[in-house]
Amino acid sequence: MSRDYVRINHAEFDKFMTKFNAGQISPRGTSEIVYRILLGNELSIWIYSSIRQKSSVSRPAGRDAIRTIMLYQENHGVMKESKTLRTSNWEKNLEKKIRSLQKRAIHHKCPWGHPLVRRKGKRSRSSFIACAAYPKCKYIYKKEKPLSKIYDPENIPPLPENFIQRFLRLIRLRKG
Ligand SMILES: [Zn+2]
Repeated sequence: MSRDYVRINHAEFDKFMTKFNAGQISPRGTSEIVYRILLGNELSIWIYSSIRQKSSVSRPAGRDAIRTIMLYQENHGVMKESKTLRTSNWEKNLEKKIRSLQKRAIHHKCPWGHPLVRRKGKRSRSSFIACAAYPKCKYIYKKEKPLSKIYDPENIPPLPENFIQRFLRLIRLRKG
Protein backbone atom coordinates (compact mmCIF):
# COMPACT_ATOMS: atom_id res chain seq x y z
CA MET A 1 0.00 0.00 0.00
CA SER A 2 1.41 3.37 -0.88
CA ARG A 3 0.51 6.53 0.91
CA ASP A 4 0.64 10.04 -0.40
CA TYR A 5 3.72 11.18 1.47
CA VAL A 6 4.67 14.81 1.16
CA ARG A 7 7.84 16.77 1.78
CA ILE A 8 7.60 19.55 4.31
CA ASN A 9 9.96 22.48 4.37
CA HIS A 10 11.13 24.42 7.38
CA ALA A 11 9.16 27.61 6.65
CA GLU A 12 5.93 25.66 6.28
CA PHE A 13 6.47 23.80 9.54
CA ASP A 14 7.46 26.97 11.32
CA LYS A 15 4.25 28.67 10.22
CA PHE A 16 2.21 25.74 11.46
CA MET A 17 3.93 25.80 14.86
CA THR A 18 3.13 29.49 15.47
CA LYS A 19 -0.46 28.37 16.22
CA PHE A 20 0.82 26.75 19.39
CA ASN A 21 3.28 29.39 20.55
CA ALA A 22 6.04 26.87 20.06
CA GLY A 23 9.70 27.76 20.26
CA GLN A 24 12.41 26.10 18.22
CA ILE A 25 15.07 24.42 20.33
CA SER A 26 18.29 22.56 19.56
CA PRO A 27 18.65 19.57 21.84
CA ARG A 28 21.91 17.64 21.59
CA GLY A 29 22.11 14.48 19.59
CA THR A 30 19.49 15.10 16.95
CA SER A 31 19.74 16.26 13.36
CA GLU A 32 16.07 17.21 13.30
CA ILE A 33 14.48 20.58 13.95
CA VAL A 34 12.69 20.33 17.30
CA TYR A 35 9.92 22.55 18.66
CA ARG A 36 8.83 22.89 22.27
CA ILE A 37 5.49 24.02 23.67
CA LEU A 38 5.63 24.99 27.33
CA LEU A 39 2.61 23.85 29.34
CA GLY A 40 3.57 25.22 32.75
CA ASN A 41 4.04 23.06 35.86
CA GLU A 42 7.40 21.83 34.42
CA LEU A 43 5.63 20.06 31.57
CA SER A 44 6.24 20.58 27.88
CA ILE A 45 5.43 19.05 24.52
CA TRP A 46 8.34 18.37 22.19
CA ILE A 47 7.76 18.00 18.46
CA TYR A 48 10.47 16.31 16.41
CA SER A 49 9.69 17.73 12.99
CA SER A 50 11.58 15.16 10.85
CA ILE A 51 13.02 18.18 9.02
CA ARG A 52 16.78 18.15 8.85
CA GLN A 53 18.58 21.11 10.34
CA LYS A 54 21.07 21.14 7.47
CA SER A 55 18.88 20.98 4.41
CA SER A 56 15.67 22.49 5.88
CA VAL A 57 13.48 19.89 4.18
CA SER A 58 12.02 16.69 5.51
CA ARG A 59 13.65 13.43 4.56
CA PRO A 60 12.40 12.08 1.24
CA ALA A 61 11.06 8.65 2.13
CA GLY A 62 7.82 8.51 4.00
CA ARG A 63 8.74 6.05 6.69
CA ASP A 64 9.92 8.44 9.33
CA ALA A 65 7.25 10.41 11.06
CA ILE A 66 6.84 13.59 13.05
CA ARG A 67 7.20 12.53 16.69
CA THR A 68 5.37 14.17 19.56
CA ILE A 69 6.13 13.59 23.23
CA MET A 70 5.22 15.18 26.56
CA LEU A 71 8.16 15.68 28.90
CA TYR A 72 8.47 16.50 32.59
CA GLN A 73 11.55 18.61 33.43
CA GLU A 74 12.76 18.32 29.84
CA ASN A 75 13.96 14.74 30.21
CA HIS A 76 11.31 12.45 31.61
CA GLY A 77 8.83 11.05 29.07
CA VAL A 78 5.39 11.38 30.67
CA MET A 79 3.65 9.14 28.17
CA LYS A 80 4.55 7.17 25.10
CA GLU A 81 5.58 9.25 22.11
CA SER A 82 3.14 9.46 19.28
CA LYS A 83 3.82 9.53 15.55
CA THR A 84 2.23 11.55 12.78
CA LEU A 85 2.88 10.35 9.25
CA ARG A 86 3.94 12.97 6.73
CA THR A 87 0.96 12.46 4.48
CA SER A 88 -0.95 15.33 2.89
CA ASN A 89 -3.17 15.75 5.96
CA TRP A 90 -0.27 15.88 8.46
CA GLU A 91 -1.29 19.35 9.70
CA LYS A 92 -4.75 18.27 10.74
CA ASN A 93 -3.47 15.07 12.39
CA LEU A 94 -0.63 16.77 14.21
CA GLU A 95 -2.86 19.56 15.48
CA LYS A 96 -5.25 16.98 16.92
CA LYS A 97 -2.40 15.25 18.75
CA ILE A 98 -1.00 18.47 20.17
CA ARG A 99 -4.41 19.70 21.33
CA SER A 100 -5.11 16.40 23.04
CA LEU A 101 -1.73 16.49 24.86
CA GLN A 102 -2.36 20.07 25.95
CA LYS A 103 -5.60 18.94 27.58
CA ARG A 104 -3.80 16.22 29.50
CA ALA A 105 -1.63 18.63 31.50
CA ILE A 106 -3.12 19.59 34.85
CA HIS A 107 -2.04 22.63 36.78
CA HIS A 108 -1.86 20.86 40.12
CA LYS A 109 0.78 18.71 41.79
CA CYS A 110 0.95 15.31 43.49
CA PRO A 111 1.61 15.20 47.29
CA TRP A 112 5.39 15.17 46.55
CA GLY A 113 5.28 18.18 44.27
CA HIS A 114 5.43 16.59 40.82
CA PRO A 115 2.97 17.70 38.15
CA LEU A 116 -0.24 15.76 37.62
CA VAL A 117 -1.47 14.60 34.22
CA ARG A 118 -4.53 12.95 32.81
CA ARG A 119 -3.67 9.42 31.72
CA LYS A 120 -5.61 6.93 29.69
CA GLY A 121 -6.23 3.41 30.93
CA LYS A 122 -4.73 0.60 28.86
CA ARG A 123 -8.00 -0.89 27.73
CA SER A 124 -10.76 1.37 28.87
CA ARG A 125 -11.45 4.69 27.27
CA SER A 126 -11.77 6.39 30.61
CA SER A 127 -8.96 8.54 31.91
CA PHE A 128 -7.55 9.04 35.38
CA ILE A 129 -5.31 11.60 37.02
CA ALA A 130 -1.84 10.47 38.07
CA CYS A 131 1.70 11.69 38.60
CA ALA A 132 3.81 12.77 35.63
CA ALA A 133 6.93 11.36 37.28
CA TYR A 134 5.72 7.76 36.94
CA PRO A 135 7.33 5.21 37.45
CA LYS A 136 9.44 7.11 40.02
CA CYS A 137 6.22 8.25 41.69
CA LYS A 138 3.16 6.06 41.47
CA TYR A 139 0.63 8.49 42.87
CA ILE A 140 -2.91 8.20 41.48
CA TYR A 141 -5.58 10.73 42.36
CA LYS A 142 -8.56 9.07 44.06
CA LYS A 143 -10.62 12.17 44.75
CA GLU A 144 -9.52 12.11 48.40
CA LYS A 145 -9.29 15.94 48.42
CA PRO A 146 -9.91 18.69 45.88
CA LEU A 147 -7.08 18.69 43.31
CA SER A 148 -5.88 22.09 44.47
CA LYS A 149 -5.25 20.71 47.98
CA ILE A 150 -3.37 17.53 47.08
CA TYR A 151 0.02 19.24 47.26
CA ASP A 152 0.66 20.96 50.55
CA PRO A 153 4.29 22.15 50.81
CA GLU A 154 3.94 22.39 54.60
CA ASN A 155 2.82 18.83 54.87
CA ILE A 156 4.60 16.48 52.48
CA PRO A 157 3.96 12.82 53.37
CA PRO A 158 6.90 10.43 53.84
CA LEU A 159 7.86 8.65 50.62
CA PRO A 160 6.14 5.31 50.17
CA GLU A 161 8.48 2.48 51.05
CA ASN A 162 9.93 0.85 47.99
CA PHE A 163 10.71 -2.79 47.51
CA ILE A 164 14.39 -2.55 48.55
CA GLN A 165 13.64 -0.50 51.67
CA ARG A 166 11.04 -3.00 52.67
CA PHE A 167 13.40 -5.91 52.14
CA LEU A 168 16.09 -4.25 54.28
CA ARG A 169 13.61 -3.52 57.03
CA LEU A 170 12.48 -7.15 57.10
CA ILE A 171 16.10 -8.34 57.33
CA ARG A 172 16.75 -5.91 60.19
CA LEU A 173 13.67 -7.19 61.99
CA ARG A 174 14.83 -10.74 61.63
CA LYS A 175 18.29 -9.96 62.98
CA GLY A 176 17.00 -7.91 65.86
ZN1 LIG B 1 4.45 12.39 42.13
